[in-house]
Amino acid sequence: MKVVRTIGEMQRLTTRLRQEGSLGFVPTMGALHEGHLELVRAAKRRCDRVVVSVFVNPIQFGPKDDYHAYPRDFKRDRLLLARVATDVVFYPDVREMYPDDYATYVEVEGLTKYLCGRSRPGHFRGVTTVVTKLFNIVKPDVAVFGQKDAQQAFVIKRMVRDLNFPVDIVIVPTVREPDGLAMSSRNVYLTQEERRQATVLYQSLREGEAMIKSGERDARRVKQALRRLIRTAPLAQIDYVEIVDTSRLHPVKTIKGEVLIALAVYFGRARLIDNLIVRG
Ligand code: AMP
Repeated sequence: MKVVRTIGEMQRLTTRLRQEGSLGFVPTMGALHEGHLELVRAAKRRCDRVVVSVFVNPIQFGPKDDYHAYPRDFKRDRLLLARVATDVVFYPDVREMYPDDYATYVEVEGLTKYLCGRSRPGHFRGVTTVVTKLFNIVKPDVAVFGQKDAQQAFVIKRMVRDLNFPVDIVIVPTVREPDGLAMSSRNVYLTQEERRQATVLYQSLREGEAMIKSGERDARRVKQALRRLIRTAPLAQIDYVEIVDTSRLHPVKTIKGEVLIALAVYFGRARLIDNLIVRG
């Protein structure tokens, strides 16, 4: 497994790799867990070679976000990536990606108006900008993302379509702990008690799904039920609980067709997100 630290070297290597076969790509911010490794396996199944990037992208964090505290452990990430037969790890410095006079950004409108786009202004602009840069550096045939970040998956797919990137986007289902909690690099922030209570998130999503499956069509009532259940965990601080359509990601009043139930909840300093797609 090769570790590449500069954009120039990555671009030269990728040009060579693409002559030998198809190239898969998995962008990550490191602090890897089984969820990330599933994405690498999915890329491996589809492509001859796989590149994984490990880069904590400063421009997708707001001033009050956890950029500096975000967990970093490249030694461990490197071992895990070697174990799932990653071919290349792209691990650039912040200066390499964003020189002092950096000035160009990519923005997807509409889809970023609600959910995390509303709670974290500028977040998706940071994500779409870094993913654009990474696509230009790695030039993959296939790029793999997780359903755990549902809005991100929609936004990236739209960006790829709108800007005609020659990349196939694959979305992998959310990988969960045995008790249902979605795996996340931020779970390491949780105290034992917060971790115990955080199981309420997936339970509430499943409750919402059950209500919709049994015929409830009033989104307000479903959201109320989710919020009630989440509040049974005294350490939970709700950021949002929302039900949106899966074409525009705008909140719905009446549930018909496919909807996304999405939530963001703080436990201590960990802001956890989770979601389910449900067909009404
Ligand atoms: P991150 O390192 O958190 O930026 O995530 C990198 C990629 O891994 C993104 O496409 C995430 O959606 C995906 N990912 C993170 N957690 C999970 C999970 N529990 N299951 C599936 N994919 C995940």
